[in-house]
Amino acid sequence: MAVIITDLCINCAACIDECPVEAIVDEDDNPTGEECYYVYPDKCVECVGYHDTPACAEACPTEGCITWDMPFTSEHKDFFSGANYVGGHNYGVEDADAEMPFRKEVSMDDRQARKPVIED
Ligand code: SF4
Ligand code: SF4
Repeated sequence: MAVIITDLCINCAACIDECPVEAIVDEDDNPTGEECYYVYPDKCVECVGYHDTPACAEACPTEGCITWDMPFTSEHKDFFSGANYVGGHNYGVEDADAEMPFRKEVSMDDRQARKPVIED
């Protein structure tokens, strides 16, 4: 993926129109069934080529709601295949053959720890 919208989400819709690649869906279309917004990992480009930082996180009013996730690349496809994934949702690993852009300056440790994209 890239970024995750966590269960801190208050479904305010501030992020959805900010995404340049339409990677975000609302709670009605969340494939995990959770009552919050959701970022499709195979669509999110971490705003690389569009903005200096993830636009969704910049727009989000809820502190710590949007966190980093592992890059959605073949190298990390196992990460998306099981309980590591948000809500335990088993994302189709075949989709991880996609090599999505990601911000190389964000460490793998911070991604694995799901560090908030914006911190005070
Ligand atoms: S980081 Fe950018 S591309 Fe990814 S979901 Fe947020 S706004 Fe969309
Ligand atoms: S801006 Fe934040 S709180 Fe609002 S819908 Fe998006 S992720 Fe949820």
